Amino acid sequence: MKKLKFAALVFAVGTSVLLVIFEILFYLNIISISPFQGLLKVTGCLQENNDSSFIEFCDIGQGDCTIVKSADSNIVIDFGSADDSDELYYHLKSLGIKELNLAVVTHYHEDHLGGLCDLLERMTVKNILINSSFAEDCDKEVVTRFKSLVEEREVRLIEPQIGTAAMIGRSKIEVLSFLNNADEENERSVCLRVTLSNMSVVFTGDSQWEAETALLERGISLKADILKLGHHGSSTSSSEKLINAVSPSAVVVSCGYNNFYNHPANIVLERVKAKGIKLYRTDLDGNITVTPEESGFSVSTDRGNKNDNT
Ligand SMILES: [Zn+2]
Repeated sequence: MKKLKFAALVFAVGTSVLLVIFEILFYLNIISISPFQGLLKVTGCLQENNDSSFIEFCDIGQGDCTIVKSADSNIVIDFGSADDSDELYYHLKSLGIKELNLAVVTHYHEDHLGGLCDLLERMTVKNILINSSFAEDCDKEVVTRFKSLVEEREVRLIEPQIGTAAMIGRSKIEVLSFLNNADEENERSVCLRVTLSNMSVVFTGDSQWEAETALLERGISLKADILKLGHHGSSTSSSEKLINAVSPSAVVVSCGYNNFYNHPANIVLERVKAKGIKLYRTDLDGNITVTPEESGFSVSTDRGNKNDNT
């Protein structure tokens, strides 16, 4: 009997130690499923990802906008230009989104922030994650309008902190890096990793060489299933080193059809193609929706492609 009790004790301690080790590996993003989540699923305390969770890269012309939706939270990362804000508002409504738990603005350029100003006048936005400082080349008129709307609507502003992570409903948002003292506004972009269920996406805003280097120099794991190519696929961004560090199975470019800047740049497209990474572009595919699956994720686009990237 004593032997049996001892064996049970050894088993219990051993299992606990293993669970803790796996949880640490999950936290460090070395594995993608937490053992505690697994246990909760087995015991029925945590529901499987229900059909309403997805990340949508919006076709919003030469701007950026991504919707992260789960059953219990609505997050939007960047909002495109003011010119496209009507379209964005009705699109959010069509998805059943009446308020945002969190808005993230990677930086103070019109093609990322402009659409949020109009949205603030029509929709409840509870929190905005945005740097309080900005560079000289920011869009000053947009910044002034944004600041006065935030004050008027009493929206809570959250200052990003490098290395922090927060759960917004079922979505995990990690602030990976940003440069507060860069001369160019693009280089101040807040870089993030968003994890929804077992699927993760790295966003770098309009980061270029300087900000990408700072991100890589943090020395943390940047691994994710999807990389949103920086600065609309510009040749100034998405270095070989960054793509290797993220090691995505798919990349997404947000850019306007036939845009003035010739985004995405051929050199970046070739870099992606050479690695056999699946490419999606809002200018050609329209809205791109990625949905977590039990194993990996699936992608559907307005143009009807459906690809499993498991
Ligand atoms: Zn931009």
